[in-house]
Amino acid sequence: MATLGNAKNTIEILQKHHFSFQKKFGQNFLIDGNILGKIVDAAQITEDDCVLEIGPGIGTMTQYLAERARSVIAVEIDKNLIPILQETLSSYDNVKVIHEDVLKVDINHIIQEENDGKPIKVVANLPYYITTPIIMALFENHIALQSITIMVQKEVADRMQAAPGTKDYGALSLAVCYYAKPEIIMKVPASCFMPRPNVDSAVIRLTRYEKPLVEAVDESWLFAVIRASFNQRRKTLLNGLSNAGNLGVSKEKIAEIIAQMGLSPTIRGETLTLEQFTELSNYLFLAKA
Ligand code: SAM
Repeated sequence: MATLGNAKNTIEILQKHHFSFQKKFGQNFLIDGNILGKIVDAAQITEDDCVLEIGPGIGTMTQYLAERARSVIAVEIDKNLIPILQETLSSYDNVKVIHEDVLKVDINHIIQEENDGKPIKVVANLPYYITTPIIMALFENHIALQSITIMVQKEVADRMQAAPGTKDYGALSLAVCYYAKPEIIMKVPASCFMPRPNVDSAVIRLTRYEKPLVEAVDESWLFAVIRASFNQRRKTLLNGLSNAGNLGVSKEKIAEIIAQMGLSPTIRGETLTLEQFTELSNYLFLAKA
């Protein structure tokens, strides 16, 4: 089988299998060998690694990963891609393709079976329609992983790496910096994909911390507080939290906690650091009914 990662061989295999792109699955296949090499370099794959690839498509990046890693597990939702993957990956005995929705499959169970439960590396050119749910599921379900190296919409990469007080800063930035160190690796132009997406893309690496840098009394409560604070971006932190309705702490008590933390009563949530959100959520946890 010819190496993929260029327009000619991609078109050839797609035509041979009469494949039609499914917009609903966010299918934009990489056709640039140079970018593929850089993604695999950024993921720091070694021959000891077990890699999880989300959405292998026709197997382009899978081939690059299989050349470097000990093993690759590739989870693909589209049944029409499975026979193509059987063909494009036929010369690799270290790849396992699983026909599943990545949001429904039990990834920890797969890691247990395929890597004795030891942490894996996630590498993917993600389907953009579910980027955030996939990242949040990987983190919140405590999947045993060392790093996530992914192609995402450029705007989403910016949100993941945003600093407090900037327009891109929000719940996603805080979730990412709670679990991992984010580093944008490179921007990728639309011409590197088939079909071309109508947004700019970027590769970002999230290196998982062994344990979070802050200590939240209750992790899911911390994220409930963060979401409540960003629900109404234009409101003050006090109004955002007291309007949320699901926290079970009175407005007076929230005001008291904000004052106790030495913050202005009119402060907005978007200026708080992860450390401040953690402190706030720990106080609110003690105060809640
Ligand atoms: N990795 C390939 C590449 O770089 O050329 C394809 C990337 S394409 C942007 C996204 C892939 O994810 C498609 O193959 C799509 O069918 C698959 N996909 C979409 N939703 C998925 C889901 N929920 N679970 C698993 N795969 C999914």
